[in-house]
Amino acid sequence: MSIKSLAPRSDFPLLAGNPKLHYLDSAATTQKPQSVLDAISGYYERDNANPHRGAYTLSAAATEAYQTARDSIARFLGASDPDTLIFTRGTTESLNLIATAWGHANVKKGDRIVVTRLEHHANFVPWQQLALAVGADFKICELSSEGELDLTHLSELVTKNTKVVAFGHVSNALGNVNPVADIVAIAHRVGALTVCDGAQSAPHLNVGFDSLGVDAYAFSGHKMLGPMGSGGLIAKRDLLEAMPPYQMGGDMISMVGDGATTWNILPHKFEAGTPNVEGAVGLAAAVAYLEKLGMDNVHAHELALGRYASECLAAVEDVTVLGPPPERRGGLVTFTLRDVHPHDLSQLLDAENIAVRAGHHCAQPLMRALGVNATTRASFYVYNESSDVDALVRAVASVRDRFAVAP
Ligand code: PLP
Repeated sequence: MSIKSLAPRSDFPLLAGNPKLHYLDSAATTQKPQSVLDAISGYYERDNANPHRGAYTLSAAATEAYQTARDSIARFLGASDPDTLIFTRGTTESLNLIATAWGHANVKKGDRIVVTRLEHHANFVPWQQLALAVGADFKICELSSEGELDLTHLSELVTKNTKVVAFGHVSNALGNVNPVADIVAIAHRVGALTVCDGAQSAPHLNVGFDSLGVDAYAFSGHKMLGPMGSGGLIAKRDLLEAMPPYQMGGDMISMVGDGATTWNILPHKFEAGTPNVEGAVGLAAAVAYLEKLGMDNVHAHELALGRYASECLAAVEDVTVLGPPPERRGGLVTFTLRDVHPHDLSQLLDAENIAVRAGHHCAQPLMRALGVNATTRASFYVYNESSDVDALVRAVASVRDRFAVAP
């Protein structure tokens, strides 16, 4: 089979400079196109000043660049109200923001917090710690025997005292694409807040925040061709307006009295201090690049590579592919090779210029439930093609022949 890359490798300086590299770790972070690098350097060459604060022309240009970026990223994610997009350092900070600011104001002793077995630590630990701090009940929705979220279990867990259901849109460890509408319906039946970790969906799907139904959605720019340290939280306006601020400082205030302070309007209330303008500008260039490719094409491309990789890897003796079937997964494949530790496997693959991730994928509660310490994960993006998969499968088969212990 031949699947051509959706985006030319030549658009990505790192890949163009490393023609032998098979980069299969885009779920961890993506490579950056030249247009993103140009947008960042162009910002510093033309527009750099501290935004919001100066009355002079250059500061106005920086403010304009920052706001324009917000508008285009909100549009890309299907949020019609750009002021409800709060820029953060990424998914982790966004989830900490809501778990801390909303959580401490709204979750009390005896309330319940529900997460799922699939969560990345970023959407697990902040809620677990909130529960411990306030004395709330912390429950985990388990997987069905088919390896998908067990919605019957979720319905049982979501009782009247449930205040929040936090879940990932797409699992970074197994690739599950979760049924957002069903989860939201179960949570909203009891008026619970829904918080969606979109780290692995914003780069790969048409998110459509306004119709997704969730109350809050977190994402990371570096996983969608943008710069590290960029990303955000999109949430419903009434939720953000009712929530206390997360961090205090410059820009987020309206008036500071000697004894009390009032807060700025959205989005500034949640963006204390000098913002990461270069991150926002770079991420806006990244979404422009993705829009040109078309998110339906991006999704279809990754699914095709994921399916091809699953089939080819499953055909290698002693390889076990984990997770739901490829048609219900995002563009990644997670697997084990009997008797070969994933860390050893990834080092052996590295010697063949194949970059994959090995470990617990920041999902230790899931690994425990699967009964494994670690897995190997190959994840695909717009610059990958079937020759990357072929190289991976050849190398895994060769490691198997050299190192797998005979039964
Ligand atoms: N959630 C998921 C599903 C992820 O895959 C990741 C990163 O791998 C994160 C959260 C954390 O993202 P970041 O490190 O960009 O904050």
